[in-house]
Amino acid sequence: MKAAIFDEPGMPLRVAELPDPEPGPGEAILRVKACGICGSDLHATVEGLARRGGVLGHEVAGEIASLGSNPIGDWNVGDRVFVVSQFSCGSCGWCMVDQPHNCENLLHFGALGEGEPDGAYAEYLRVRTNDLLPVPDDIPIEVAAMVEPLATGLMLVREAELAIGDTVLVIGGGPIGLATVAWARFFGARRIVMSEMVAHRLSLAETMGATDVIDASATDDVGSAVEEMLGAPPDVVIECVGRVGVLAQSIDMVRHGGTVIAGGVCMRPDTIDHVAAYSKEPTVRFPATYTKAENQFVMEMIAARRIDPTPMLSHTISLDELPDAFEALRTPTDQCKVVVTP
Ligand SMILES: [Zn+2]
Ligand SMILES: [Zn+2]
Repeated sequence: MKAAIFDEPGMPLRVAELPDPEPGPGEAILRVKACGICGSDLHATVEGLARRGGVLGHEVAGEIASLGSNPIGDWNVGDRVFVVSQFSCGSCGWCMVDQPHNCENLLHFGALGEGEPDGAYAEYLRVRTNDLLPVPDDIPIEVAAMVEPLATGLMLVREAELAIGDTVLVIGGGPIGLATVAWARFFGARRIVMSEMVAHRLSLAETMGATDVIDASATDDVGSAVEEMLGAPPDVVIECVGRVGVLAQSIDMVRHGGTVIAGGVCMRPDTIDHVAAYSKEPTVRFPATYTKAENQFVMEMIAARRIDPTPMLSHTISLDELPDAFEALRTPTDQCKVVVTP
């Protein structure tokens, strides 16, 4: 099969032939129909976290091409499925109570670390059948692949524990920031402010449900601009950037006793000013895991037309176009969610 391989930091992905994967017991092979490019893949290839020689890609939907023995669930070849981006065993105590994200034998496909199995920047993907969700017929397969970033945004808003009347500042208008805006709207935030430097993403933020936007390239004091806009500092700040210094800024901008959610996955050590934080007494959370049930919820809300990720889908590309598109995303202009359709 054709796949895009990560060799080393500084090198673009390389499309090459790999052996077709074979399903083991409880596994399936998917024909990958859609796989989103994720910001964490971009980060991991720079920071050297990605496994060398591995295949990235964890936002995937496709069709079952073959099944191993003893599949978990009632699956058939040809079924359209979305994969929760994990390998769960299906037999440990956590899997038995349908919480496979806590599985004792958990792995995450997408090669974002040593020992993690290959991902879906490829024609085929080996998965565990315990982690599949059916894709309803009327959801296009590229949209189904966006369940993963939407589930991440949902997780961030879940951890924010929004109260009635809360105001929310979302920093960073990439796909996760935009998904976060959509869920903040869904769960009833009073005002949702998006701070972002790329103009195209500011207009997308309004489409996804932001009530206010701030062009962060035009001000060096986003905190004051937000406070002026809302009449008070925001109750919740959700940072979706992941660069050194943004967490400290978030603590600086939230109201006294407010909540800060670190959604941006900064891959370098970052400092915060403890004294400034004590003066704010914020709750700061680092949510890492969505559940299979949350992914299922996202799929249902898309099917019910209660949430719509399609404005975020900016480009669909082939596997051969992936290496260039992947590099271009390091300095985004008009791209948002770019989906590979092998
Ligand atoms: Zn992702
Ligand atoms: Zn398990």
